[in-house]
Amino acid sequence: MDDEKTVEQKIKTILNKIVDEENPCGSGRIILMNRRYVLLSTDYFTYDLTKDLEELFNAAGDAVLYKGGEKIGRDLYKYYAPIAKEKGVDVFDLIAAVGWYYGWATGEIVEKGENNGVYRMILYHSFEADSFIAREGRTNKSVCHFLKGVLKGIVEEHTGWKYTASEPKCRAKGDELCEFVYKPLR
Ligand SMILES: [Zn+2]
Repeated sequence: MDDEKTVEQKIKTILNKIVDEENPCGSGRIILMNRRYVLLSTDYFTYDLTKDLEELFNAAGDAVLYKGGEKIGRDLYKYYAPIAKEKGVDVFDLIAAVGWYYGWATGEIVEKGENNGVYRMILYHSFEADSFIAREGRTNKSVCHFLKGVLKGIVEEHTGWKYTASEPKCRAKGDELCEFVYKPLR
C-alpha cells in the first residue's frame, strides 16, 4: 500500500497521458464555499438514476428524485439565507447565483408570492433537462423532477407554507426554458 502522496503522483502520471486540461477538481477534492462536492456526469445524474429507480421500484424514480430534491432545497435555504442576510442580497437571487456557479442552471425568480402566494421560477439550460435530452431527445412531458423538488424545498422553507409544484414548461418538451410554479395549499 502506497501513501496518499505516492498514489496521487501515480494518478497524475496516468492523467497526463489522457487529458490536456487542468484538473477542475484541483487536488481531487472539490471544496466550494466551504463544502465538499463531487462531479457526477449528467449522463448518470439524473437520467440513469431515474431509469434505475423506475426499474427497481416500478416508476417511482421521479418521486424519489423529487423528494430528495426537496430535502436538498430546504438545506440550501437554511445554509444560504443567513449569508444572503449578511451580504444584503435577496436570498432567491443568491441561491440562483450559487446554482449557476455549481453548473445546475441559469435561473431567475419571476414571481415571489405577490399574486395569491404563487412562486414562479425559470431555468435556462437545466442540467436535468440536458441529461434527459442527451440520452432520449425530446419528450412530451416535463422531466426536471429533482430541480422541481429543490425549488419547492426552498420556497417552503422560506415561507413556512406547503405548496403544490408543477413544471409547465421544460426544455425536454421543446420549450426554450424550464418554468416551475408553486401554489400554496390553503
Ligand atoms: Zn425541465
